[in-house]
Amino acid sequence: MNLHVQLATKNECYIKNSGTKWTPKGIMVHSTGCNNPNLKRYVGPDDGLLGVNTNNNTWNNYRPGGQQICCHAFIGKLKDGSVATYQILPWTCKGWNNGGSSNSTHLAFEICEDGLTDKTYFNAVYKEAVELCVYLCKTFNISVKNIIDHSEGYKKGIASNHGDVAHWFPKFGKNMDTFRADVEAGLKGAVTQVQQPESTESKAAKYIVQAGAFNKKEYAEAMVEKLKKAGINAIIRINGDVDGDDKVTAADARSVLRKSVGLEADCA
Ligand SMILES: [Zn+2]
Repeated sequence: MNLHVQLATKNECYIKNSGTKWTPKGIMVHSTGCNNPNLKRYVGPDDGLLGVNTNNNTWNNYRPGGQQICCHAFIGKLKDGSVATYQILPWTCKGWNNGGSSNSTHLAFEICEDGLTDKTYFNAVYKEAVELCVYLCKTFNISVKNIIDHSEGYKKGIASNHGDVAHWFPKFGKNMDTFRADVEAGLKGAVTQVQQPESTESKAAKYIVQAGAFNKKEYAEAMVEKLKKAGINAIIRINGDVDGDDKVTAADARSVLRKSVGLEADCA
């Protein structure tokens, strides 16, 4: 998974909900319903990877398209054509994306649709979505059976009347049953990292050196800083349940990592 954070701090949902806490019980998979696979259509401002949205119509606006709407993440294309996930709301607050009661129970992410005929793009975003769900299931102890798409949510009476993603996945031999099975397989087989190492060298690494284990975020950050000064590429890995005021959250860890490799000036 190629996970980045660019919070939609101007969105009304972020403003009202980001300070609140919840524990998600499920995940709802969405797709955008229009032919534009570029993340920059929805996520901004440009961080150098997204590209510039010259229409200023990202979801980092108070009410995108006049709607009270916000999901937790988007999956789509960066300006270089590669596929990535961008988190735009904290996982630890409710979103406004599902319509109906599932806003109070289900995390939500949107996959940017293209023309729905490109198998390469579909396979890339499908894989990214599976990996995102593996990560979220692990992080919040979510049961795989509680991963549903918007169309299933509507049938259950907990979401608004939309058909996504059942109009798209079957075109390429997939559906929500294969999706759940793939997440299940990922959970059994994979060790999910909060953030992929930046260098290809460390991707192939067999031996990991642990430098410390900390209860406080600032201690972990100080260690990363120390290692960085020594020329060592360090990441913070989350251990267990880290919700709490002075503990490291997944978003914190990603932010620290991105700052440590110079990808982000300020993620507050
Ligand atoms: Zn939807």
